[in-house]
Amino acid sequence: MAFALMDEEYAYVRHLRKGLHALQKIEPGFFSPIETIFFGCPDFRRLWDILNHQAHLCGCGEIQNLPVHLPLWHGGVARLDPDSELNIVPGSSEVFWAEAKAAMDLTGIKQVLALTHFPCGWARERGVKPEALLRSHEIGFKRLQAYAEDRGIIVYPTVHVAYGDLAPGGNKTYLADFDKALLRAA
Ligand SMILES: [Zn+2]
Repeated sequence: MAFALMDEEYAYVRHLRKGLHALQKIEPGFFSPIETIFFGCPDFRRLWDILNHQAHLCGCGEIQNLPVHLPLWHGGVARLDPDSELNIVPGSSEVFWAEAKAAMDLTGIKQVLALTHFPCGWARERGVKPEALLRSHEIGFKRLQAYAEDRGIIVYPTVHVAYGDLAPGGNKTYLADFDKALLRAA
């Protein structure tokens, strides 16, 4: 079976995008073409498409020109949510958290992307639904942001959607607006 967006996932993404305006289109040049830490999911089916998007959106041109530091964990920064079922080993969110902080301290990089994606094979395997994944993504993003803000680091929450045949125009990377996504009411 092809690893494609399921109807339930597509409906949720569409609701976020069209109903709540919680996923905003990112114009090329939005991100700075500077060194960037990219906290994402290592899924080989999506990672290169995601990085290609990033090279385009920061004006770096080709992917080989993208100056990116890649601390990748399955499920991305949603793994920083201690209560998420994405974590199969108790306490592993704190291992990632220690590495995430160290990545910022080690590199001195000032632009950080916190990414989740639909569909995420890791989330599906753990039975984590799209809304729960986004909620944990918000928790992970806010942990990063709280640490980063005193250090002059900007953290952006992004969502990559692999539409496949479900939408014209191909895959997209969006900026997430968690307040509009109404996750706290979930
Ligand atoms: Zn994934």
